[in-house]
Amino acid sequence: MLFFADKCPSCNLAGHKVSSDTMIHHVKDISRISDAAYYFCSTPECDIVYYSQDDLFTTSMVNKEIGIKSSSSDQALLCYCYNYPKAELVSNSLLDKIKIRIDNFGNRCDLRHPAGRCCINDIKKIVAVQKVEF
Ligand SMILES: [Zn+2]
Repeated sequence: MLFFADKCPSCNLAGHKVSSDTMIHHVKDISRISDAAYYFCSTPECDIVYYSQDDLFTTSMVNKEIGIKSSSSDQALLCYCYNYPKAELVSNSLLDKIKIRIDNFGNRCDLRHPAGRCCINDIKKIVAVQKVEF
């Protein structure tokens, strides 16, 4: 396999870099993780979670559902620090709830979120697409 370093081999969109520390918490078989540069694909319709220059991890190769992937169930998490599932998006204050918790208790998205970064912007995008009324 050979493809542009930062583009997902499936959807061809650029992902963002993740550390191996992040991946160790989410990949089922950590022996597959090398010292290569890995990226996270956040395209909802794409089945790939992590990819590098010569390897990839699909949604079935990680140990939890990825809430921002459209194939995930309503119980899949959006916020992994405070365990808020997609199903909570029907309530009208999810973003506020998460922000209050982060303000008071901090966050460890680098280890707890498969994307290795905060869920707030992803949730805002989902809200914009679904036009959920807040
Ligand atoms: Zn992709």
